[in-house]
Amino acid sequence: MRYLTVDPERPDAEIVRRAGELLRRGGLVAFPTETVYGLGANALDAHAVARLFAAKGRPTYDPLIVHVLNAGVARAVARDWPDAAERLARAFWPGPLTLVVPKRRMIPDIVTAGLDTVGLRVPSHPVARAILEAATVPIAAPSANRFSELSPTRAEHVERALGDRVDLIVDGGPTTVGIESTVVDVSGDRPVILRPGTIPSPELAAAIGALDIASSGGRDDSTQPRRAPGMLDRHYAPRARLEVFSGGSRAASLIAAHAARGSTVGALVLAPLDDSAARTVQMPNDPAAYARALYHALHTLDAAGCDVILVEAPPEGAAWAGVRDRLSRAAQPADA
Ligand code: AMP
Ligand code: MG
Repeated sequence: MRYLTVDPERPDAEIVRRAGELLRRGGLVAFPTETVYGLGANALDAHAVARLFAAKGRPTYDPLIVHVLNAGVARAVARDWPDAAERLARAFWPGPLTLVVPKRRMIPDIVTAGLDTVGLRVPSHPVARAILEAATVPIAAPSANRFSELSPTRAEHVERALGDRVDLIVDGGPTTVGIESTVVDVSGDRPVILRPGTIPSPELAAAIGALDIASSGGRDDSTQPRRAPGMLDRHYAPRARLEVFSGGSRAASLIAAHAARGSTVGALVLAPLDDSAARTVQMPNDPAAYARALYHALHTLDAAGCDVILVEAPPEGAAWAGVRDRLSRAAQPADA
C-alpha cells in the first residue's frame, strides 16, 4: 500500500512505524505538516536525499529544510546556536518557523546545496511529529510537489503531482497553516527574514529585537545577487498564468476581457462576485484563513482547466506578507 490514511490528531501507530522505518532505510515518505505536505527523506543519508531531489525535479542548488523533533536535536545538528536561535525557538517551536544556522558535518552537503548553514524546523503537526519520533533521524522535507509548482495542502495534491515517485503517502487531511514556513537566517550578524510565512515580522522582532527582511524575497530584481540559493523568483506556481490585480471593482471587467480572448478564466476575489464568465473563489479576508485556503483554491482552478487565474491583491500589512510573497512569485512568467 502506497497511500495510507491516518487520523491527523492520533495517527495509527502501525502506519507511523512503517513510515519511520521506510525513512530510516532511505525511502521517500510524503506526510502532512502544519504548513504543507512534506516529502521526507533521511537527512543523514546522502543517497536518500539525492532520490528526493530527483523525485521533485528540484535543482541541487536549492537547499532543503531539515525537520527535527525538538530544539535539543536542532542544537545537536547545529555547529553554533546563536542567542537569536534560542529566543526564536522558544517563542515559535514547534511551529511554522525555519531557522538557518551553521551546520555540523553530519548533515551531508547535498542537503544544504553546499552551504555551510542548514535550515531547521520543529513541526507541530502530530503526524509529522509521530513520524519524526519513529524515524529517529532528522528528516529533510521540502514540499511534496514537483519543483516550482504549487505546494500540496492535501494528500490528493501529492498523489496527483508525485504519484509513484514516492514510497508512501500518509494522508492526514488538509493542512492548517497552508503556506510554507517563515525562514529566518540567524547565522549572520543580524537575523534576516529570507522567506515570509504566517508569522508577522513584528512578532519575530518582538522575540529578538531588530531584524532585516531579505530584499530579494522573490521579487523581480534579478540583477541583485541572491543571498542564498533557493530564493527563486518563479515558484509556488499553478499551471495557469496567474495575474494579481488591485481593486475588487475591476474584477468583472478583467474577467470579461480575458474571456473575450477565449481564455478559461478563474478568479480569487475578496468580496462576493457572481460572474458566469469565470470560476470565482471567494477568499477569506483574514490572512491566516486566506493562507490556509490559497493552494487548494489554485489546485482546484488548475484542475478545472483555467488558462488564467486573476487574483485580487490582498491588503498591505505585515500579517499578509507571506501570502503576498507567494502570489508575487506565482505570478512570475515561466521564462523570467
Ligand atoms: P521548501 O521549498 O519549503 O523546502 O523551502 C526551502 C527553502 O528554505 C529554500 O528554497 C531556501 O529558500 C530556504 N533555505 C533552506 N535552507 C537554507 C539555508 N541553509 N540557507 C538559506 N536558505 C535556506
Ligand atoms: Mg517547495
